[in-house]
Amino acid sequence: MIQSKQIQRQQLVLVVDDQEINLDILGMILEDDYDVIYASNGQEALDAMREHLDDLSIVLLDLIMPVMGGIEVLEHVRADEQLRQIPIIVLTADHKAELQALQLGAADFITKPFDTHEVILARVGRIIELSEGRQLISAAEHDRLTMLYTRNFFYEYASRLYKYHQERHMDAIVLNIEQFHSINALNGREFGDKVLCCIGDEIRAILSEIFGIASRLEADRFNIYCEYQGDYRAILDRIQGKVDKLSERVDIHLRMGVMPWSDGVDPVAMFDRARTACNMVRGNFRNPFEIYSEEMRQRELLNQRLLNDLRTARDERQLRVYYQPKYDVQCDPPRLASAEALIRWQHPELGMVSPGDFIPLLEGNGLIGFVDSFVWQEAARQVAAWRETYGFTLPISVNLSRTDLFDPTLLVRLQSLIAENELDYQCIKLEVTESAYTDNAAHVLDVIARLRELGFEIEMDDFGSGYSSLNMLSEMPIDVLKMDMKFVRNIESNATDRRLVTLILDIADYLEVKVVAEGVESEGQLELLRDGGCNLVQGYFFSRPLPPEEFEELIRREIARERNGDL
Ligand code: C2E
Ligand code: MG
Ligand code: MG
Repeated sequence: MIQSKQIQRQQLVLVVDDQEINLDILGMILEDDYDVIYASNGQEALDAMREHLDDLSIVLLDLIMPVMGGIEVLEHVRADEQLRQIPIIVLTADHKAELQALQLGAADFITKPFDTHEVILARVGRIIELSEGRQLISAAEHDRLTMLYTRNFFYEYASRLYKYHQERHMDAIVLNIEQFHSINALNGREFGDKVLCCIGDEIRAILSEIFGIASRLEADRFNIYCEYQGDYRAILDRIQGKVDKLSERVDIHLRMGVMPWSDGVDPVAMFDRARTACNMVRGNFRNPFEIYSEEMRQRELLNQRLLNDLRTARDERQLRVYYQPKYDVQCDPPRLASAEALIRWQHPELGMVSPGDFIPLLEGNGLIGFVDSFVWQEAARQVAAWRETYGFTLPISVNLSRTDLFDPTLLVRLQSLIAENELDYQCIKLEVTESAYTDNAAHVLDVIARLRELGFEIEMDDFGSGYSSLNMLSEMPIDVLKMDMKFVRNIESNATDRRLVTLILDIADYLEVKVVAEGVESEGQLELLRDGGCNLVQGYFFSRPLPPEEFEELIRREIARERNGDL
């Protein structure tokens, strides 16, 4: 019994009185059940409260003391958000002061001369119990980090507002952080928490100006239910502005979706739609803001369907890898140099679904790794199979999405792919889109450098669509620039585009990397590019992406041509 009492963590009580006799009496009453500490004036009491903030259960406070009396202590405590959490029982002989003490936040009072032991113990016990209960509720109600409401309380309050204040037209806003898991992974949880707190602080500041409530859910999602109907983009910019100040090194991008008030739509449905709007701008750093529309809902339903159907798609062989050739145009005639593997989805009901429709969707929810590794395996198997059949090794480029670059197993997976198919590292080239480099430069550069050390060639895809500075480019570990299609499209008719292409070719020359031009559809485009020094060309002019059996025609043609050339 004694042992268990020692092990059990006792509640801590602070007794404050200037008269030693009173301290003695209260000590005797309490020490059997509590750990007791003492203070003999108001200042000491405040110091002790601050020191024991986390484990102090209650304070018994004398009102009349020569150095800082109890009333003054109560005033200090009331003004301090943290101290206010500790319940205080006042000790007084002056009945008139009781009311004032209660008004200042005291939880109860004990009259002097002291009541019986039992009364004092009962009062202390009851107040501690009440206060612990209240703190539990308050903890469940508020998110520890941001002090915004937790999910359940938020939805409960939102539905009450909706039910009882129909005259208020409340909008639903969802705010999210792009790639929050990578921000955490790269900069540590502490930094991640700082970002969340910063957003929480700014939301609370905004809600002190407009009528509304807010919550943090699912780590980095914020719901705001408010009556404003003004320019929400300005609110996003305001919060983004605060977040930008957190670090010069880390880029943090927020996005926002809004469902404006609509008669008869309850908060749960409102937030579903606001979230849909927010998801629509995922990854769109240039336009991270969207207002919900009906068309979006259709799109969301389609997306949902595609996601649901994806696993069956692979098992039922609806997913196929097509190959588009890249020709070396500095040879005459141009020579088949390599190919790009591009995924195709032949959906039984929706027909051919373009990768542009499902790849960004999969990137958003982490499923892209599933498709990418399928494509990589197919491509590696195909290189090996064609080598076997034709005695000819045609390197194939595969696309890496930005989430692949954060997968810790990436290197091992690619290594085993090469080993299993008995390939050289040069047989599989890796295309990484330019924007993946610029979003999280340091980490991406590190992963890419390691891939290159293994022997992989890296092609920077869609070059010119992102924002690489020349400075960054010169430090980037790349072997090939793939010029974005938009430069090629109007090269024949538009002098500015022609100058841009020349500029890109010059940059590549300076960096000593090769250039692939994508989207080449006409002979005129091809000639301009070749004459400008472009090495490789990919596009409909030579061939559309083809299923492997049709692509083999190109290989056979190439082999035949080389044989003829040899003769
Ligand atoms: P990308 O990697 O830049 O691929 C080039 C895209 O341009 C392909 O579109 C190709 O069909 C198209 N294209 C090629 N030549 C021409 C042309 O002359 N004119 C025009 N208008 N288009 C041309 P696709 O196959 O629809 O793929 C779109 C994007 O989807 C790809 O852009 C790539 O970013 C992504 N993607 C495709 N397959 C995969 C994959 O297996 N994994 C990942 N992560 N992304 C993929
Ligand atoms: Mg590509
Ligand atoms: Mg491209």
